[in-house]
Amino acid sequence: MSQIFLMGECMAELQEVAPGHLRQSFAGDFYNTAVYLKRAFPHIDACLLTAVGNDKLSDAMLAHCEQERLDCSSVLRSPERIPGLYWINTDAEGERTFTYWRDNSAARQLMSLMDEAVRERLTHADWFFFSGISLAVIEPQDRPILWALLADLKHAGVKIAFDPNYRARLWPDADVAKQHFEQAFELCDLLLPGVDDFIQLYGVKDAAQIRALLSPFHIAEVVLKNGPAEICYIAGDLVEIYPVTPATNVVDTTSAGDSFNGVFLGARLSGRPVATAIEWAAGTAGLVIQHPGAIIPSEVFNHFWEA
Ligand code: ADP
Repeated sequence: MSQIFLMGECMAELQEVAPGHLRQSFAGDFYNTAVYLKRAFPHIDACLLTAVGNDKLSDAMLAHCEQERLDCSSVLRSPERIPGLYWINTDAEGERTFTYWRDNSAARQLMSLMDEAVRERLTHADWFFFSGISLAVIEPQDRPILWALLADLKHAGVKIAFDPNYRARLWPDADVAKQHFEQAFELCDLLLPGVDDFIQLYGVKDAAQIRALLSPFHIAEVVLKNGPAEICYIAGDLVEIYPVTPATNVVDTTSAGDSFNGVFLGARLSGRPVATAIEWAAGTAGLVIQHPGAIIPSEVFNHFWEA
């Protein structure tokens, strides 16, 4: 069985469905990626690398993950912390704003909670996925532990996938984010960025400029996403362009990139060619954005996937 570890923070999500009534679910970029990967490719072992607390909300979160058949056997428990939480407010114009309570979440302690058994397990994986959000939320003083871990994994033959997923509010400033992202660029075998990441951090937006900017890092494969615009695949000197069919009824773009990443990674781990992986990933992302929330109902997903 192919195995991938996905590292990051899963949070409880609260969304107002009627005045004074909140719907609670769970989300987080790496978790969304894992859910779509596993739904599309049940034969892959999708293992979560995160930390939760010892509280009821953490138990509910893990039960939810297990319901999605994600492997939680390496999830760590913080004795004193609890999961992060966010609240989505939608105004009369449909504009969404997010309020977060995550500064003291258990996931921030992930690196210091990690034990030898988990480290050992990681070295046997085929792939390891993390994002700029995973990187931002771990305690800054623990980041060297992550870099050392990634170097060890690479040495052990584990392939590394990274999505910058730049969120300005999680970083003290853009230069700090850039410095960390460039360390990730040095290490990763597969980069899954959005054009937005480069616009915000480097002020560049076309594929040729982005390719030039990334060339010193010698990343084996780059899949550059750009909303409804075409996808650019770069592997050394090879550059391929894949069209996207713009969705007609976009309801909520949350998780477009995450669902894309999950299906793309799953397809590659299943030995599918790049063109198929991109086609399936883009098709899934196009479906996800036509439904509210990060995680669409599994019946909707299965209906699409089986068609
Ligand atoms: P992110 O969520 O990382 O910002 P993007 O917005 O670039 O990601 O979208 C990721 C993928 O989702 C795109 O490459 C595309 O396949 C799909 N997608 C995004 N927006 C649309 C859209 N309006 N219509 C169809 N597909 C879309």
